[in-house]
Amino acid sequence: MTSNKGKLAIVTGASTGIGYELAKCCARDGFDLLVAADEPEIQQAAHDFQSLGVNVEAIQADLATTEGVDALYTATRGRAVDALLANAGRGLGGAFLDQDFSEVRHIIDTNITGTIYLAQKVGRDMRARGQGRILFTGSIAGFIPGTFNAAYNGTKAFVDSFSFALRNELKDSGVTVTCLMPGATETEFFERADMVDTKVGQSRKDDPVDVAKVGFEAMMNGEGDVVSGWKNKLQSAAAAVTPSGMLAEQHRKMAEPGSAKK
Ligand code: NAP
Repeated sequence: MTSNKGKLAIVTGASTGIGYELAKCCARDGFDLLVAADEPEIQQAAHDFQSLGVNVEAIQADLATTEGVDALYTATRGRAVDALLANAGRGLGGAFLDQDFSEVRHIIDTNITGTIYLAQKVGRDMRARGQGRILFTGSIAGFIPGTFNAAYNGTKAFVDSFSFALRNELKDSGVTVTCLMPGATETEFFERADMVDTKVGQSRKDDPVDVAKVGFEAMMNGEGDVVSGWKNKLQSAAAAVTPSGMLAEQHRKMAEPGSAKK
């Protein structure tokens, strides 16, 4: 444990996957935790984090809503937030025209609206104190037009871009902003996004333990961004020089419903 003992980190989407591992990284480093997710499983996760010897409070709230974000922010009860790990997010597979629009809207409201609303509230306090760390979980999906994940990849393009812009706005403030950009990672993401029958859903994926470690270290070092894993680094470098139409076609092969069997 380091000198972060007694400091507070907020981790959203901490009940499973990358967020669960990010919260563990924070706890191992001494941060007290305020963790949030939409389902009751967040209580069990909080119990796990407590066993690492830090104070933990869990909030069950839909962070797609302003009320949910307000409830999370209120739970700080004015205590300074040293690190915000804005990680909660969802995917949504399938053809856009066949998706239920309320589901499309919910991923936009979770991945974008709720994420930046929370970042604004916590970020204002950090700027006033002249210190703080913000980590967004973006994605390498933000570099690639997401055929059969059109809205999801769009939300991650937003988060990746937003993170760099906010970082620059805060460059002289003492507040750092970092974007973690994972590739396909072994979490509940693909099942929840109804993508188990896709090639990417069935592919070998990164371990969320490794992904979170890379993201946590980048945040602590105040880096601008980090792509986790060398394959994903190659993929994102290639995406930068590949025409968008070609990227969209490549994405179709990985994410088309039923592509696992092709
Ligand atoms: P995951 O296991 O499904 O975890 C998602 C977490 O976000 C859960 O704790 C979930 O809690 C929470 N969450 C989702 N919607 C929420 C809402 N409206 N309000 C509150 N909490 C909400 O998936 P994951 O892979 O760890 O995803 C974490 C982040 O990584 C996401 O932003 C995702 O876009 C990003 N990412 C994932 C991958 C990948 O391949 N897995 C790749 C790149 C980026 P509830 O179950 O309670 O809703």
